[in-house]
Amino acid sequence: MSNEWGLCKDCKWWQIEPKASIANTTMGLCIDDKLFPYNIRVSGNSGCNHFMPGKPAHAKGSSSQPPTAKPTR
Ligand code: SF4
Repeated sequence: MSNEWGLCKDCKWWQIEPKASIANTTMGLCIDDKLFPYNIRVSGNSGCNHFMPGKPAHAKGSSSQPPTAKPTR
């Protein structure tokens, strides 16, 4: 776990729909181990201190209300 604060759109724990683009308004699921149990749906310009730099994962259902996707990493 990192204590670095950063934006979801730059985080490896952000998971978005298969064809979604990385943007401030794109909605996705946080798949960080500690946060995933809360099924938190976050936008590209949301952020937190579990941030880890990286590219988002992709899975169908990541932006549903509530999200229905399983973590892919
Ligand atoms: S909520 Fe935090 S850990 Fe989850 S995707 Fe956003 S920055 Fe990453």
